[in-house]
Amino acid sequence: MVAAAAAQVGPAVTWLPPVRRTLAPRLSGRGPRGGVALTFDDGPHPQATPAVLDVLDRLGWTATFFVLGTQVRRYPGVAAAVVGAGHEIALHGDEHRYLIGRSPRAARDDLRRAYDTVAALTGQPPLWWRPPYGVLSGPALATARGLNLVPILWSAWGRDWRAAATGTSVVGDLYRGDVDGGMLLLHDSDVTSDPGAWHATVAALPLLAERLDAAGLEVRTVGEHVRR
Ligand SMILES: [Zn+2]
Repeated sequence: MVAAAAAQVGPAVTWLPPVRRTLAPRLSGRGPRGGVALTFDDGPHPQATPAVLDVLDRLGWTATFFVLGTQVRRYPGVAAAVVGAGHEIALHGDEHRYLIGRSPRAARDDLRRAYDTVAALTGQPPLWWRPPYGVLSGPALATARGLNLVPILWSAWGRDWRAAATGTSVVGDLYRGDVDGGMLLLHDSDVTSDPGAWHATVAALPLLAERLDAAGLEVRTVGEHVRR
C-alpha cells in the first residue's frame, strides 16, 4: 500500500514542481512572504489528529486540514474537534485514490460526496481542494470549478509518510522546498502512510516552530495565505 502510494507520488513529484513554479504559482499555494500556510492531509484520524491538534494549540497555530470524506464519516467527532478548535477544513477527496484511471463519473462523484460530507459537518462550503497525490484530472477539475473550489497543491512537504521519518527529517525535508510564502504539506493520519508515521509529524511541529520563529515567519491557514 505504502510502496504503491510512493510509486504513484514519484512521477507527480518529478514533473509538478517545475510546472508549478513557472506556470502556476497559484496552484502551488504561493502567498505573501513573511509567513507560511500549514496544511495536513488524509485525516481525520482518531489518534493522529488529536495529537496534532494538541501541539497546534500549544503553539497557538491555526492550520488547514484537507480531509477525506470517508474519514470524516468514520470519525465525525474528530472532524468536529478540528472545526471546534478554529482550524480550516478543506477537501482532499472522498476515497484516497488516484483520480487518473477512474472514470469521469467516478471522479466527479467522489469529489461531490466529499464536498457534501464536509459542508454538512461544518455548515459552510469548503473553499479549497487538494487532490490525492497532487494529481488533477479533467473531470474532477471541472467538478471542483462547479463547486467553486480552488485547487491548491503545495510548495514544500515533510515526507512524513515514511516509517523512517523523524521530527528532524520532516523539518529538513520541508526546508528543501519553498518555505517563506509557501504552502507546507504534512499528514495527520496514516491511512496512506506507514503505520504510526504521524508521530514524526507531531515531533516535527515544535522544531518547525523554532525555525519559523527564528526567521520571523508566521503560520497561516490557506484562507489567510491565499487570495481566492
Ligand atoms: Zn493524501
